[in-house]
Amino acid sequence: MLLNLFSMIHTSITHVSVRQPPIAGAIGGNAGGLLYLHIIGTIYTDFKFLKTNRFTDNEILFILAHESAHIFRNHSISTLIYLIIEKLALGLNNQNYNQIELAKAVWAALAPSKLPLNVEVSRNNEYEADELAARLTGDFNTCVSCLKKLCGGNLNAPSHTWELGGFKLPMMTVRQRIKELNKRLSQPSPISS
Ligand SMILES: [Zn+2]
Repeated sequence: MLLNLFSMIHTSITHVSVRQPPIAGAIGGNAGGLLYLHIIGTIYTDFKFLKTNRFTDNEILFILAHESAHIFRNHSISTLIYLIIEKLALGLNNQNYNQIELAKAVWAALAPSKLPLNVEVSRNNEYEADELAARLTGDFNTCVSCLKKLCGGNLNAPSHTWELGGFKLPMMTVRQRIKELNKRLSQPSPISS
């Protein structure tokens, strides 16, 4: 049980990655001052990968800002909640696996996003983290160059993936991420100054 919990927490870590294992990740929460708690979180990065691939200081700043945005917006909490719901629905011995996978497939087929609800939420979390990071750093070009480096220059590579029936499917491509970032930055900031 404890191992399962650790595994769920590990899986719920939100991250910037186009490869496995994640190049950067974050876990934490923003209590917004409730009970005198504020923002608590941890960010990890694969500095060896960043150094090998010659990420600039500003590109690393974008990654750190993106991870901070995940913590600021409590993204790991929503991911964890969906994971717990899925785990409970699967049953102790995964006996409901086929039904759950079928439900995910039907949801994805009917949804305009072509993604199950939890995956759509995760994708929006990534888009939001990109947007907040870009607004924080104020440097759209560096955000784009960073995302390009993360996918090794292949913009059609999946930025994140989700699983259906044991197969990994793209959550969104890096091209979609850049396009969405561009769109969001043309609109007013969601954070009041
Ligand atoms: Zn992320």
